[in-house]
Amino acid sequence: MLCAALWSLACAAESPALVETSRSRVPVEAAQPQARATPADDVARPVQALANSVDVTILSTSKAGIGEGEWGFSALVEVDGMRILFDTGAKRETVLRNAKAAGVDLGGVSSVVLSHHHDDHVGGLMRLRNSVASTAPDALKTVHVARGMFESRHVGGKRREVNEMLELRQTFEASGGVVLVHDEPSQIAPGVWVTGPVPRLHPEHNWGGGRQVRGPTGWVEDQLHESQALVIDTEAGLLVVSGCGHAGIVNIATHARNTIREAPIHALGGFHLHRADSEHLAWTMEQLRALGLESFYGAHCTGKAAVREAAKHLPADQVAEVAVGWTLHL
Ligand SMILES: [Zn+2]
Ligand SMILES: [Zn+2]
Repeated sequence: MLCAALWSLACAAESPALVETSRSRVPVEAAQPQARATPADDVARPVQALANSVDVTILSTSKAGIGEGEWGFSALVEVDGMRILFDTGAKRETVLRNAKAAGVDLGGVSSVVLSHHHDDHVGGLMRLRNSVASTAPDALKTVHVARGMFESRHVGGKRREVNEMLELRQTFEASGGVVLVHDEPSQIAPGVWVTGPVPRLHPEHNWGGGRQVRGPTGWVEDQLHESQALVIDTEAGLLVVSGCGHAGIVNIATHARNTIREAPIHALGGFHLHRADSEHLAWTMEQLRALGLESFYGAHCTGKAAVREAAKHLPADQVAEVAVGWTLHL
């Protein structure tokens, strides 16, 4: 097994039981990076690398090319030999069944990236972990989340806790799992980044509402500040993998370009545009085009209208509404 170092801008664990401290180095499994020089005028930036080869397989979304569809999201992302599960679907069994249908062995998947706390993205985590724990105890063992994932949530002023991640974290850690909480963009393997919380520079309101989160001054509307994306830095540009995109795809793409590299954008996943009006869709795609959008593959909560709007700006083979079993190679 080859080991490389984790270069982290800031990856702070929330409890002493976890392993990370800010700017610590943790061995992660990965192929040798294709080194890229640190800019001379910005010596504080971490050493960066480009991913050479990326393959994505959709394992949960509404449309099903194979297996079964559901309202949720999950994708297997393979980068230079390292395999990452991005989100875990809604129902306990969906990703497990769809992985079997796609011929994917999850025993070789070391890390999980969770986009945010909503049930339709974390529902399969423990079932998946338990399915491999006896034969491959290090599989699906490390979970990357962004700060805010474990904040208390209520609905409609009622006091019942609705953030399942609070209980799920305890169960996951009891299974030997490790949770890493990111405050900022972090390179978890050469060319592989999690964004951490995304600054809301543009007024995108890409969430449904209805939940409250406990803030410093009391209960306020939950804007899902933990919403993060996985970004793969490749020769072809930045592949942005999004779960629900509650931070807004324009904010996410802007953040990725500001903190990782100013490169063309390839957008894949859920972007929560299914209820957006035509004006917001047009604005979104104009903004993305200005940020160098080169492909747009919508799943889950993206909506057909958003895909049609993207198609106005992109070649036909660079835009699609994708289904379970769909694959991408970059
Ligand atoms: Zn969501
Ligand atoms: Zn969702």
